[in-house]
Amino acid sequence: MTDVSPARIQPPPKRRPPYRNLRVYAFDPSLSLRLDTAVINQMTLRVPWEDVTAGPVGEYLEVVDVDPASNCCYAPVDLDDRYLLAESGLDPDEGNPQFHQQMVYAVAMTTIRNFERALGRRALWSQADKEQGFQFVRRLRIYPHAIREPNAYYDPNRQALLFGYFPAVAGGRNLPGGTVFSCLSHDVVAHETTHALLDGLHRRFMEPTSIDSKAFHEGFADIVALFQHFSFPAALRDQIRKTRGDLASQSLLGQLAQQFGEAIGQFGALRDALGEVDPATKQWRQKEPNPENLAKAREAHARGSILVAAVFDAFLAIYRSRIADLVRIATGGTGVLPQGDIHPDLVERLASEAASAARHVLAMCIRALDYCPPVDVTFGDYLRALITADRDLVPDDDRSYRIAVVEAFRRRGIYPQGVRTLSPESLCWSAPPDAAARALLELLPVIDSVRAARHHGWSLSDDRQMIREGMEASARAVHQWLLSDHCRTVARLMGLSLGATAPWSIERKDGVPKIEVHSVRPARRHGPDGQTLTDLVIEVTQKRRGYLDPILQDQVDKQPVDPPPQEDFWFRGGCTLLVDLEHREVRYLIGKDIESAERLAAHRAYLEETP
Ligand SMILES: [Zn+2]
Repeated sequence: MTDVSPARIQPPPKRRPPYRNLRVYAFDPSLSLRLDTAVINQMTLRVPWEDVTAGPVGEYLEVVDVDPASNCCYAPVDLDDRYLLAESGLDPDEGNPQFHQQMVYAVAMTTIRNFERALGRRALWSQADKEQGFQFVRRLRIYPHAIREPNAYYDPNRQALLFGYFPAVAGGRNLPGGTVFSCLSHDVVAHETTHALLDGLHRRFMEPTSIDSKAFHEGFADIVALFQHFSFPAALRDQIRKTRGDLASQSLLGQLAQQFGEAIGQFGALRDALGEVDPATKQWRQKEPNPENLAKAREAHARGSILVAAVFDAFLAIYRSRIADLVRIATGGTGVLPQGDIHPDLVERLASEAASAARHVLAMCIRALDYCPPVDVTFGDYLRALITADRDLVPDDDRSYRIAVVEAFRRRGIYPQGVRTLSPESLCWSAPPDAAARALLELLPVIDSVRAARHHGWSLSDDRQMIREGMEASARAVHQWLLSDHCRTVARLMGLSLGATAPWSIERKDGVPKIEVHSVRPARRHGPDGQTLTDLVIEVTQKRRGYLDPILQDQVDKQPVDPPPQEDFWFRGGCTLLVDLEHREVRYLIGKDIESAERLAAHRAYLEETP
């Protein structure tokens, strides 16, 4: 007898899906009340798949929905619920707190993914402060209903995003007295998440050191929110169609936080990258760039918006150069589109070019963060970082993107101090002078040990706590090297002060001025032949007691005073080094001198002018 029982065929192994689809408002709930935008305002975000528990709580985020003002907490959404999985999450609904939880999670995860893509490594949150023992922070907490006020903010001490809700004032499309939830605005969520990501990378950028410091945080957070608009396919096509491809005219894409702006009684969006509403006529008008406005803009958001406008302008120039051939083909060479709607095929092609240009600019802006000094960043420094980072990634600028960026910044009065010309080449950070480069090469034994320890590699699948611990071990090695005897001479080149004559306002440990190795992390770039090269980004900082009274400063600097008088502020210096691991060379040294009297005076003057 033969065996007749059927053969058991094993199913193929199950594979984790790459994405989780979640529905959100593309902009904010107010656009769903407008006939012309209701359809495009619903969209589905593809969030990288991860295992989540109710909250949602995942690898990076923990949504905690307690509402102190109402003394209640809302049941957490379970995104793994099979009905929700089948329907791409909950339906956008202002009245459902669980949808609010879903939306903050989806938008924040999208923002994190954009960072990780651009930097080619895992994102880490800033560590908790000294009181909490610099512990590893795995998850940023998000409170969608934290406060009852028209505000939302990132709290670095709690490592949390807090979103407010509030009754709208009359006007605009908001129901007077109706509730506006800041957690339902894509732009507000992306903006606050960016603050946290930026702080995770550059802890010292939160400190008010100059007129540019806070403004940079605000401007950068807006840039990320703004350029994410261009990854919304339906909205992008719709706006290209309505503006007939002219993204410089008023469009939803160039505006931020519409509902939020209207609800607190301002016309138009909270911050508009391109234009403003004329208070007299209530009509939108394009802003003409005026370099004099930079000096006048002191408030962080207003000043930040000048940075946003400069980056947006550069994007427009890049977009126009990318579509020039399409427009020529579509117009038989005249460049003038006929009246009426443009062809749907042209809409499609223009949208695709706009999306590519926006992706490029967003990645360029994020990558530039690795090329910033570790403290006291200015808009001018950021321009240099942008240009250098882009040159590293795309060595020949055949599309003149870098010229577009420099031009857009120049038109708004943004340029760095101490460069001879504004050509992209002279704006790039330079390598350290020969003697310094040779001395810095002595770093290499340390670097080699760091490289050997790079089994954790920072790749997108590595454990983030392991990455943090590996980074700390590398930082300790670099720290030891810096304090070794033969390093003292290089220290000055790095903007540090380690010698016997170092100002006494710098604290000592065992008689040696203290330093902090703030970060040792890899940055990936493409080599000229398309290979991927890894640079090591090393950030070293030092701090000095700063006094508003220059005479007191002088006293404390010249000789030890024990105990030193209470400082009025901390003055910091240091540098960012980019080290090429393959070719064993220090490629850039981006420093801020701790001994600079000029910088110290500027910092003091800034604090005295600021209430
Ligand atoms: Zn902000």
